[in-house]
Amino acid sequence: MVVGGGAAGLMAAIAAAEAGAQVCIVERSERLGQSLLRTGNGRCNLSNLSLDTPEAAAAYNHPDFVAPLLARFTCTRAVELFSQLGLETHADRSGRIYPLSNSAASVLQVLRNRVEHRGVELLTDTEVTAVDSSALAIHPLRLRAKKLILATGNDRLATQVGAHSSIPWRPILGPLGVSGDLKGLSGVRTHCRARLISKPNESIIATQTGELLFKDKALSGIMIFELSRHAACGDLLSLNLVPNHHEDSLQELLAARRQHLASYSARQFLDGLVHPRLALAVLRAASVSSGASATAIDLRQLATALTDMRFTVRELPKRHQAQVLRGGLDTHNFDPYTMMSRHSQGFYACGEALDIDGATGGFNLHFAWASGWRAGRHAAANLGWRELT
Ligand SMILES: Cc1cc2nc3c(=O)[nH]c(=O)nc-3n(C[C@H](O)[C@H](O)[C@H](O)COP(=O)(O)OP(=O)(O)OC[C@H]3O[C@@H](n4cnc5c(N)ncnc54)[C@H](O)[C@@H]3O)c2cc1C
Repeated sequence: MVVGGGAAGLMAAIAAAEAGAQVCIVERSERLGQSLLRTGNGRCNLSNLSLDTPEAAAAYNHPDFVAPLLARFTCTRAVELFSQLGLETHADRSGRIYPLSNSAASVLQVLRNRVEHRGVELLTDTEVTAVDSSALAIHPLRLRAKKLILATGNDRLATQVGAHSSIPWRPILGPLGVSGDLKGLSGVRTHCRARLISKPNESIIATQTGELLFKDKALSGIMIFELSRHAACGDLLSLNLVPNHHEDSLQELLAARRQHLASYSARQFLDGLVHPRLALAVLRAASVSSGASATAIDLRQLATALTDMRFTVRELPKRHQAQVLRGGLDTHNFDPYTMMSRHSQGFYACGEALDIDGATGGFNLHFAWASGWRAGRHAAANLGWRELT
């Protein structure tokens, strides 16, 4: 019995059914896998080439737990498996894997096709109200399952399973609410490097380079989503708006620019270096009036404003903004090779129901496929069916 028909549950059901088990998916929604359609902006970034490397586990919050799983279920394995399911894929320049059709609907359809062809029983539009290690309740019924795989994502069910402790949820991979001088910047996109800094000792927590989007009172974009995994309120975000330079080399560049732009105003001096609306914010940060002469600018101060524009994190991502919730069933209660509970033989958890989250770029779906596959295979093997790979 698989509770939840999202990415992890569909993969678990397919793995178990292909090993010969009789499988039933119980899904709250009318249709299976609806959450998949929103992934990757409708394109579904389903894995990442870097999951073929030994360092892959470092992209997750509990590297030790995921390492044995990822060693057996690499990106190459995921791509092969999807190809066997009928899905062709391609990698973009940064190694993100997408369906060749560039449509999340294709990913969902090949999973649904295989579920149908393997005769998996479906109980859709059916909410499970409670689970324990071998039984589940669909009010007013209580059903017993030989093997139970919990794949309910970040549903509250994943925090209420018998002796299994859980970690409180916290939304991550979303925009960060900030305070600072954001005047006139909403809607501006810029390529930059961002450092997340802990305020008390100015230590750097994490660094990301990429496209940043300024919002009304927030910073967004994939790089900020990534930093949100590590952020706490009160941390500082320092932006280098000219990321191929550090302060000293930028000061040299500014001095060279001034030689042929000496008659320009401070505002004109920055045109062509940063987005025009950012130029105004930079001048404010460097205490330079936009009408001042370029020759009057303190270039060190300007270089600092360009390479270290600071904001304070005031708000972490809200639930509806976040791609993933950190938290869920404590991984200490589960065997990382099989996804089976250490307390209850025959009870498994996979995907986001477990306290595992990964970086943006296909790592979260990859964990859903990998953990669902292992759980399904092991559950079927424990029923006496043959275990394949
Ligand atoms: C907007 C958005 C974009 C994303 N894009 C990407 C991306 O491109 N790449 C990537 O790697 N990750 C992405 N993610 C994260 C990824 O979608 C999740 O990590 C992944 O879907 C988790 O799979 P899951 O099967 O564990 O949970 P889910 O996909 O949430 O599936 C859980 C299923 O269980 C069902 N369920 C829950 N409770 C019950 C119950 N009580 N009874 C019965 N059924 C129940 C739900 O209806 C659901 O169908 C994105 C997330 C969001 C929100």
